[in-house]
Amino acid sequence: NPGTQQQIPVTLIPGDGIGPEIVDVVERVFDALGNPFAWDKQQAGLNAFEKSGDLLPETTLSSIRQTGLALKGPLTTPIGGGFRSVNVRLRETFQLYANVRPARTIVPGGRYEKIDLVMVRENLEGLYVGHEHYVPIGDDAHAVAMATGINTRAGSRRIAKFAFDYAVRNNRKKVTIVHKANVLKALTGLFLETAKQVGLNYADQIEFNDRIVDACAMQLVLNPWQFDVLVSTNLFGDILSDQIAGLVGGLGMAPGANIGEGAAIFEAVHGSAPDIAGQGLANPTALLLAAALMAEHKGLHKVARDLRDAIDATVATVDGRTADIGGKVSTSKYGDLLIERIRDKK
Ligand code: ATP
Ligand code: MG
Repeated sequence: NPGTQQQIPVTLIPGDGIGPEIVDVVERVFDALGNPFAWDKQQAGLNAFEKSGDLLPETTLSSIRQTGLALKGPLTTPIGGGFRSVNVRLRETFQLYANVRPARTIVPGGRYEKIDLVMVRENLEGLYVGHEHYVPIGDDAHAVAMATGINTRAGSRRIAKFAFDYAVRNNRKKVTIVHKANVLKALTGLFLETAKQVGLNYADQIEFNDRIVDACAMQLVLNPWQFDVLVSTNLFGDILSDQIAGLVGGLGMAPGANIGEGAAIFEAVHGSAPDIAGQGLANPTALLLAAALMAEHKGLHKVARDLRDAIDATVATVDGRTADIGGKVSTSKYGDLLIERIRDKK
């Protein structure tokens, strides 16, 4: 019942490349869903840089500080010139410690049917915290490089707790802790031990087990249906989240969420795809599914369900598919089809 409920303010960043055209579909589809969100449109990425000389303008940051919630189109960071990735800056600024990447079969006839799993990746620690250098001990032929990873008890506890809470909130049954504690005994041993301790607090609601990352990668190919929620450290989570996207048919369909204490930023996993920008070829589904995750994050389960149902029904036949998933429908026409479905259901 739109109009009676207060809209939730969200910072909306169209971004670069195909960003504006897919964001346009998101806005139109959410109008049809009864406008649960009040969009505060802000710039970031290359388009912002060209206008204001800043890839991540202060007005955008302060909007996210106020709303605590952002839906973000793909952002291009110029190569060369020493620019730091906007995505990394957002992650650090808002301490977005959890990266959530669900993978669900939507288009039938893919590599695997009936996949429905979620990767929760620790996003601020591990081998990605940046202590990397060359050791100056000889000539180029004998060069040595070195990296240090850092996992903490507090960081491991926070991500494990997030994964188990997520499982409870979303009616999931099992959490698999993914690690390499047989070799990286300290770095990932600490993570495994901490995550198991956290898991014991949920023993009456959520089952948990653990897998060594190499075996897990193989099992994801042999029998992905055995998994439900997976939780892992930064590097393993990075690799496995792309692997699970591959199980369900690729970039155009893969949403992601970055969750912190003070803000949550939702996005499509794909980049700005400049090769197809402005041609009506972009598939907006990944960003729409990211918006569905955002709705769920705010407890708007019906909105999320209505949106997913419309997507499922629309892409079920080839007439409802964009080119990347084997159809011919344009970006905006696909939006129209979703809106028809949503209106029909009301
Ligand atoms: P960036 O430099 O921002 O990462 P990119 O060209 O690498 O941009 P990716 O998202 O990595 O973009 O996508 C790789 C290719 O996959 C694109 O060039 C495009 O052809 C295709 N692709 C990505 N996202 C979509 C989408 N939403 N709809 C259709 N095709 C897409
Ligand atoms: Mg890319």
